[in-house]
Amino acid sequence: MNSYPHLFEPLDLGFTQLKNRVIMGSMHTGLEDRPWHFSKLAAYFEERAKGGAALLITGGFSPNRAGDLLPFGSKLMSQWQVPFHRKVTDAVHKHDSKIVLQILHAGRYGYTPLNVAPSAIQSPITPFKPKELSASQIESTIRQYGRTAKLAKKAGYDGVEIMGSEGYLITQMLNERTNRRTDEWGGSYENRMRFALEVVRSIREQAGDDFIVVFRLSMLDLVEGGSSAEEIATLARALQQQGVNILNTGIGWHEARVPTIVTSVPRAAFVEATARVKACVDIPVVASNRINMPDVAEDILASGKADLIAMARPFLADPEWVNKAQEGRADEINTCIACNQACLDHTFENKRASCLVNPRACHELELQYTPVTDAQHVMVIGAGPAGLACAVVAAQRGHKVTLVESRDHIGGQFNLAAQIPGKEEFHETIRYFNAMIRKHNIDLKLSTLADEALINELKPDHVVVSTGVKPRIPAIPGIEHEKVISYQRLLSEKPPVGQRVAVLGAGGIGFDVSEYLTHEGKSTSLDASAWQKEWGVDVNSTTAGGLAVPELHPSPREVWLLQRKTSRHGKGLNKTTGWVHRAVLKMKNVQMLGGVEYLGIDDQGLHIRVTRDDISEERTLDVDNIILCTGQESVSELYQQLESVAETSNFDVHLVGGAEFAGELDAKRAIRLASELAASLN
Ligand code: NAP
Ligand code: SF4
Repeated sequence: MNSYPHLFEPLDLGFTQLKNRVIMGSMHTGLEDRPWHFSKLAAYFEERAKGGAALLITGGFSPNRAGDLLPFGSKLMSQWQVPFHRKVTDAVHKHDSKIVLQILHAGRYGYTPLNVAPSAIQSPITPFKPKELSASQIESTIRQYGRTAKLAKKAGYDGVEIMGSEGYLITQMLNERTNRRTDEWGGSYENRMRFALEVVRSIREQAGDDFIVVFRLSMLDLVEGGSSAEEIATLARALQQQGVNILNTGIGWHEARVPTIVTSVPRAAFVEATARVKACVDIPVVASNRINMPDVAEDILASGKADLIAMARPFLADPEWVNKAQEGRADEINTCIACNQACLDHTFENKRASCLVNPRACHELELQYTPVTDAQHVMVIGAGPAGLACAVVAAQRGHKVTLVESRDHIGGQFNLAAQIPGKEEFHETIRYFNAMIRKHNIDLKLSTLADEALINELKPDHVVVSTGVKPRIPAIPGIEHEKVISYQRLLSEKPPVGQRVAVLGAGGIGFDVSEYLTHEGKSTSLDASAWQKEWGVDVNSTTAGGLAVPELHPSPREVWLLQRKTSRHGKGLNKTTGWVHRAVLKMKNVQMLGGVEYLGIDDQGLHIRVTRDDISEERTLDVDNIILCTGQESVSELYQQLESVAETSNFDVHLVGGAEFAGELDAKRAIRLASELAASLN
């Protein structure tokens, strides 16, 4: 019997059936915006349909120009667009999966000066103040939702999802925070929810009954002035009455100051909000947010808290997620680690989405792992993220691969990242690579130092040097003092650390290390209830918006995070996650010092000169330890040696990952370039 019986139970919607309980949730990839990208979009969806998802939801398409997320953003409003969408629906239907088009009107979140909203109130995250919709514009917008649904049906979609969460137009209509109207669309909750219900009516009227209508309902707004539990339940029942087939979960507006999907959010952290809505209705309800592995999904369904599971990013990471779970191969799932680095960060930078752990995502036609006819022997030296990706892709294509690692374990810098509270998911990537090493019969040689003698003995056709990085040791007088610890030694050997600590370097690793130093005990990312208390989340929405007073966990030590730059700390962190790291360190009272010059280290502590507004002041931080997070340098001596004998050797030599370029040491780049290299080895 399958280990996940609830996950693989079909669902009968009356006029149509879903083959299992897994939905690929909506994710804007950047391929939706231009018709000439629809072949790529079709290939992307086809892989996920082939991979077993029962129902796929597209990225958001606006019903009209005023609803654009970005200027010239994705819309479905004219007949000429239908044939492009046909490519997508035909590709999905080849694999017994269903697909619905998400209709998303951005309202005041539209990143355009033409945006509109129930009231002319600017959002805190967009630069444009919206124009207030007139009553007749509201009525035409409702008709346009119906028009989009009708066009979607013509294009072969099995239904639509109405985006009614995350703070977009429908949510703006529902809440007094954004709706101050005094006409029949504002005031009482009955008036404020009329727009959502009219949208459903218009869609049913124009697209008919044999058409799936999913409504993504904001089950927890996480903003002041958001909906109460009673209002959410009233809306859920009214939507059911109006003919919605499935209620999907939305958590948090984009302007919320509580993280909802980043890696430090515990798995299934918001499922109680879904269960609360499920208890009010008879139609199927979908759980979402930070569900990335089949055991978590199965537990939710088995406990009766939801009827379906939606995952978006996990399908970028692994299109075959469903088939692997069904075939008892869950250990082969390439798990989404919720880093946002290649997906949402790209979307917010207006770039095509992809995935840090799967660079083929949204590049299915461009990056292909074609089986080889003439297998070669590929020797990969270094089993960090770049070496692992290269070894696995080469082996998957049919090459004979030997992977050599000097340590007694694989994973490189990912092992260090996994030590940070809130980054436990990085263990999953290492588990995945271990499973792939076994599956593809990669000859893994641990605790082995690769040198010319070993290469001559193994006689490979290709040598890939991915020997990674070492911490940069800055030239500060006293740097050899016993107080000084590199981040690498701190996280791998875990030496005792004193009560007062200075962290040098405020890049991604300086922030991570500061989080490590200011937490004690079990990571709240592994305990949903503790995490909710820490962030002030009231999943029962007993207060409007579901916000409670946060319960702070004080840091066990005093930490200073120092940088030489005078710019804001954490300015270079990623867009969708950087604010969370800054908020955590603020909660932990970490003292940020910029414009610092390091003068020396001795028994007294760290001597610095701080310059601010042209005024310099010398200080001594009486610290017990100094942790170096001052960047990395490439470890590439072996490559240089091999290059020098390249003309006389019988193998090609390649360099990837941090060993090639430590300046932008970043796993996304390392895995992508290593995968591309492996895809090209012939
Ligand atoms: P980084 O971002 O380059 O930061 C190192 C910091 O050290 C610099 O910002 C620099 O700041 C300082 N520094 C450099 N040379 C120095 C010197 N000689 N003396 C004193 N200070 C010096 O690198 P990182 O923090 O090691 O992170 C590496 C990469 O890992 C990042 O680029 C990122 O892609 C990835 N990462 C990201 C995250 C995340 O986003 N949360 C977490 C971990 C890792 P000043 O010159 O201003 O002092
Ligand atoms: Fe998940 Fe990170 Fe990949 Fe996005 S980039 S899908 S968050 S692993």
